[in-house]
Amino acid sequence: MAKSRFEYVRQFETNIRLLPETYIVVRIDGKKFHEFSKYYEFDKPNDERALRLMNACAKNVVLQYKQDVILAYGESDEYSFIFKKDASLFNRRGDKLSSLIVSQFSSNYAFLWPNFFPDRALHVRHLPYFDSRCVCYPNLQAIKDYLCWRFVDTHINNLYNTVFWQLVIKRQMTPREAEQRLCGTVSSEKQEILFTECGINYNAEPEMFKKGSLVTRKGEILHIDVVKQIDELFEGF
Ligand code: ATP
Ligand code: ATP
Ligand code: MG
Ligand code: MG
Ligand code: MG
Ligand code: MG
Repeated sequence: MAKSRFEYVRQFETNIRLLPETYIVVRIDGKKFHEFSKYYEFDKPNDERALRLMNACAKNVVLQYKQDVILAYGESDEYSFIFKKDASLFNRRGDKLSSLIVSQFSSNYAFLWPNFFPDRALHVRHLPYFDSRCVCYPNLQAIKDYLCWRFVDTHINNLYNTVFWQLVIKRQMTPREAEQRLCGTVSSEKQEILFTECGINYNAEPEMFKKGSLVTRKGEILHIDVVKQIDELFEGF
């Protein structure tokens, strides 16, 4: 095709490549999902339908990148997609990878929404959208620690949110009172408050809430102790 005299503006485009031989994480996170979840009346603190919808979207994304992906892990409104260190997709262009993953995820979310929320249609002023970033991890230990970090974060957030909402719903505390009650408490104290004051055994809570969701390369969805199984998860990578 003939080049126009305007063609030179292409030189202003940057093609930033992600470092070679590094594990790539693309993490997506729902924009203002605190409001989104309020608008669509998600159950608090964990709406099971919303989590299953996130998992279904992540599974569809993983299955499109079978060759390059190791696994995906998600909780709440976020998902991390972990790619092999020799992944060469999109020539390791970070903007391509990040934007394609997040737009695939978002269009899946809107498309699959009615399967999980048949009784409430998406509203044009409250559409789901997500941010996205690529991060490179230089060695196996760092990528394992990344996944463990997200897993432990799931546990910390879920325990806090479970007690918080029980104090608000069952004990009729105001959010402020519940926050003060939990201020400075360690994990075991939170479990104790949950048990003695709200009659709930944290261990009996659903696995998906406590452990988040892991999507394997084959598209299986597991709720496992990631820290305990971290070496197995990265065997061969
Ligand atoms: P930002 O745009 O900065 O990400 P955010 O409002 O999305 O802001 P997050 O820190 O990402 O803030 O937190 C997501 C929030 O979405 C949670 O705090 C929770 O209120 C809500 N949320 C997400 N998933 C669920 C779910 N499955 N059930 C109930 N609430 C959820
Ligand atoms: P890539 O993923 O690299 O962008 P692509 O197939 O999207 O590949 P583009 O160079 O972006 O390639 O070109 C978009 C193509 O989509 C066009 O060549 C054309 O075939 C098709 N297309 C886009 N919009 C229209 C349209 N409105 N009507 C008909 N065809 C269209
Ligand atoms: Mg965020
Ligand atoms: Mg968010
Ligand atoms: Mg989030
Ligand atoms: Mg195109």
